[in-house]
Amino acid sequence: MSYFSARCLVTGGAGFLGSHLCERLLDHGHEVLCVDNFFTGRRTNIEHLLDNKRFELMRHDVTFPLYVEVDRIYNLACPASPVHYQHDPVQTTKTSVHGAINMLGLARRVGAKILQASTSEVYGDPSVHPQPEEYWGNVNTIGIRSCYDEGKRCAETLFFDYRRQHDLAIKVVRIFNTYGPRMHPNDGRVVSNFVVQALKGEDITVFGDGEQTRSFCYVDDLVEAIMRMMETPADVTGPINIGNPGEFSILELAEKVIALTGSNSKIIRLPLPQDDPKQRRPDITKAKQILDWEPTIRLEEGLKKTISYFDNLLAQKPATA
Ligand code: NAD
Ligand code: UDP
Ligand code: UDP
Repeated sequence: MSYFSARCLVTGGAGFLGSHLCERLLDHGHEVLCVDNFFTGRRTNIEHLLDNKRFELMRHDVTFPLYVEVDRIYNLACPASPVHYQHDPVQTTKTSVHGAINMLGLARRVGAKILQASTSEVYGDPSVHPQPEEYWGNVNTIGIRSCYDEGKRCAETLFFDYRRQHDLAIKVVRIFNTYGPRMHPNDGRVVSNFVVQALKGEDITVFGDGEQTRSFCYVDDLVEAIMRMMETPADVTGPINIGNPGEFSILELAEKVIALTGSNSKIIRLPLPQDDPKQRRPDITKAKQILDWEPTIRLEEGLKKTISYFDNLLAQKPATA
């Protein structure tokens, strides 16, 4: 696939996924404006890009208007880990909703294409399995996950209304659990938690009975799909599921991490958080057809790369850095 040089805005660009996306866009010859308020993102994630003349970093909160000139907007700004998005739930909803309005307003003014990083959480605790894009979901409007789930659902609504009302060039991808290097060691999501716990020889914290399932996509596969999506013809809006259809129970994940790290850590059980989805697996038929894409990195391979990243990180400095 060939890409031409564009001025790309990546909101949430100093975060886990955003930093990988910035890097890949630069590799493809694009200019990148990385906008982040550093709520969960870190300067160290993009430090290696700062010397690149085509890279610019701006500290900014997307809930406030932003006036810049760009051709492409990748809207990733939003904490993604339950621990972080529940820390200040009102701000989480504002980030998704006000952030979407501001970025859509920007796209409208400058005539940019805009891609929304939506989520499998729009399906809630799904009663249809695996989840196709046509499924409308099973979401609690008033629970502790609702700030994220409903914020992201409203953002999708805004994207499609800007398309209908203002003929905006929109792209919506629904991202399923993605993992890899540059997740924050205290991020709270399951892969980083288990890997860091195993490497430190601490107890592995399985919530509930560990029979709940997730499908884990390695970050490089995910970024490739996002970049392909942005370059699709104008009539391709999505929403399109992006994820790895390999489905594992949380207990299986814990066992794999222990085996791959050779850790002596023990598995312990903690209470299952409220509204924790029981099962999740993407139906990626559309991504295969429309993007000619499917994941190439198996869980064990991706876990090895992730373990190696955290191993180096923990050797350098305390996990809080
Ligand atoms: P992350 O927390 O590492 O990154 C989010 C980034 O957004 C951080 O750099 C954070 O500082 C920034 N941010 C948060 N609020 C902001 C605001 N108001 N203004 C500007 N910047 C702000 O998480 P991630 O995993 O990289 O997720 C990136 C995006 O992808 C999010 O929108 C998330 O909802 C979506 N997503 C991720 C996954 C996944 O498994 N990683 C799954 C589904 C959806
Ligand atoms: N906006 C922005 N940058 C721009 C243009 C607009 O941040 O370059 C924001 C601004 O806050 C505005 C919102 O996007 O309120 C929605 O813009 P739109 O033009 O859709 O509607 P408006 O609110 O201006 O009527
Ligand atoms: N989980 C767990 N131990 C942890 C962190 C998470 O058992 O230390 C479980 C969590 O309850 C959920 C799954 O792992 O069932 C995935 O959680 P994560 O926060 O990574 O993402 P989610 O898909 O729930 O948004």
